[in-house]
Amino acid sequence: GAPQLNNPKLFRQQCYIDGAWLDADSGKVKEVTNPATGELLGTIPDMGADETRRAIEAANRALPAWRAKTAKERSNILRRWFDLMMAQQDDLGLLLTLEQGKPLAEAKGEIAYGASFIEWFAEEAKRIYGDVIPQHQGDKRIVVVKQPVGVVGAITPWNFPNAMITRKAGPALAAGCTIVIKPATQTPYSALAMAELAEQAGIPAGVFNVVTGSAKGIGGEMTSNPIVRKITFTGSTEVGKLLMEQSASTVKKVSMELGGNAPFLVFDDADLDAAVEGAMMSKFRNTGQTCVCANRILVQSGVYDAFAEKLAAKVKELKVGNGLEEGVSQGPLIDEAAVEKVKEHISDAVSKGAQVAIGGAPDAKGGTFFQPTVLTGVTTEMKVTKEETFGPVAPLFRFETEEQGIAMANDTEFGLASYFYARDVGRIWRVGEGLESGIVGINTGIISTEVAPFGGVKESGVGREGSKYGIDDFLEIKYMCMGL
Ligand code: ADP
Repeated sequence: GAPQLNNPKLFRQQCYIDGAWLDADSGKVKEVTNPATGELLGTIPDMGADETRRAIEAANRALPAWRAKTAKERSNILRRWFDLMMAQQDDLGLLLTLEQGKPLAEAKGEIAYGASFIEWFAEEAKRIYGDVIPQHQGDKRIVVVKQPVGVVGAITPWNFPNAMITRKAGPALAAGCTIVIKPATQTPYSALAMAELAEQAGIPAGVFNVVTGSAKGIGGEMTSNPIVRKITFTGSTEVGKLLMEQSASTVKKVSMELGGNAPFLVFDDADLDAAVEGAMMSKFRNTGQTCVCANRILVQSGVYDAFAEKLAAKVKELKVGNGLEEGVSQGPLIDEAAVEKVKEHISDAVSKGAQVAIGGAPDAKGGTFFQPTVLTGVTTEMKVTKEETFGPVAPLFRFETEEQGIAMANDTEFGLASYFYARDVGRIWRVGEGLESGIVGINTGIISTEVAPFGGVKESGVGREGSKYGIDDFLEIKYMCMGL
C-alpha cells in the first residue's frame, strides 16, 4: 500500500512541470511496485514527447531569470533545498527503500550522500571563476568567462533514486542551468519528492522539472529538441550509446556515467582482513547493484585460498530480507530480469568449471531475493569476465604476477572503478597508474564522495560528476577578445 510518511506531501504521484503537479495528457499511468513484497506502491503519469516538450519550453522560459541571479542567490536557495532534505532524511529514506529495496540504513545513507551534492554545489556556485589571459597583441585584451550551458535534460537509473538526481541537478542549478529530469520508472518517487522539496526551497517554477513515463518518448524529445543544450545520463552503456547517437544531430554536450566491470585485485602483500572487508563493501553494497561494485575479484596465487575462505565466512553472515527489517544488509534485486542475469552468470561459470563456495541460488524468501554468492576457480572464458553481473555474486579469479593482474584487470571495454589491496609502495604506484579506470580505490572498497570526481574512461563514459570538476560539465567557456 501507500507509504506511511511523517510528511505525506513527499509522496507525489504526479509530475512536476513548470511549478505545477500534472497528469499525463492521456490520463494514462504506470504502476510502481515494492521489489521486496511485489505490492503496488502507487502510480505515476505515463507521459511522452508532448509533455516533455512543454517541460523543456518551461525550462527555457525560466532560464534567463535563473542564470541572471547572483551565484550567492542561487547558492542560498540550494542550501535551503539541502536543509529540507536532511530534515526529512527519515521519510526520504523510507520512500527510497519502499521503491528500490535497499536496507533502510543504506537508504538514509543515500539521502545524506544525495544531499551532499546539493550542499557542495551550493558552495561551488560561488567559485565559478573566469580568467584574464596575457594579450597576444599590444592593443588587445583577452577575458575568459564561464556561462551556464542552458537547458539540461537528465535521465537517471533506479539503483540510486535520490543521489543520481542531486548529482546532476546540484551542479546544473548551481551553474545557472535549468533542468528536465526523467527518473527511472521503477523508482520515480524519490525524484518527485525532490520536486516537492524544490518548491518548498523556493526554486522558481520551470527551473527543476520531473517527467515520468515512456523512456523512448521522453528520451527522444530530450535528445532531439534543439532547446536542450546538454544531456546528462547515468545508466547502461547500451542506452548511453543510443542517447549519444540521438544527441549528435543537434550537437549537444553529453555527460555519460555508464556501465562498469570493476576489477578488485588482492596482491600477496595485502592486509587480507582489510581486503576482505573492502571486497564485502564494494561487492555487496546495494546487493551488488551499483556501477562501481567489484565485478571481478582477482586474487594473487599466494593468498587465493586464504582470501576465498575468509570472504566466504563473511558472506555467510549477510542477512537477506526486506530492507525495512532490522539487521538486513541484502535487499531484493530490482526485478525478475535481474535475477535471471545473476542465475545465468552463475550457471555459465559452474558449467565451465567454477565452484560455488557459498550461495549460488535464489533465496528461500522467494520473490527477487538471492543468496549472496562466492564463486571460486573462475576463469576468463566465463560470462562474468565480460559482463556486469549487477547482483550479489563474487567471482574469484587467480593471477600469478603483478603484470598479469594488471593486464587481466584492464582486459575489458569498461573503465569506471577499480580497486586493489597491496602494501608495497612501489607496487601501489605502478598498479594505481596502470589501471585503466576513472576511479581507483587503493586499500579501500568505498570511493563515492561529493568532494571527488566520479566518472569513467573507455566505454564507461564521458565527463565527471561531483568535486570542483563536476560543475565544468554544465558550463561553457566564452573568450572575449577586446580591441582597445
Ligand atoms: P538500467 O540497466 O540501470 O535500468 P538503463 O540504461 O536501461 O539502465 O536505464 C537507465 C535510464 O534510462 C532509465 O531511466 C530508463 O528508463 C532510461 N532509458 C532506457 N531506455 C531509454 C531510451 N531508449 N531512451 C531514453 N532513456 C531510456
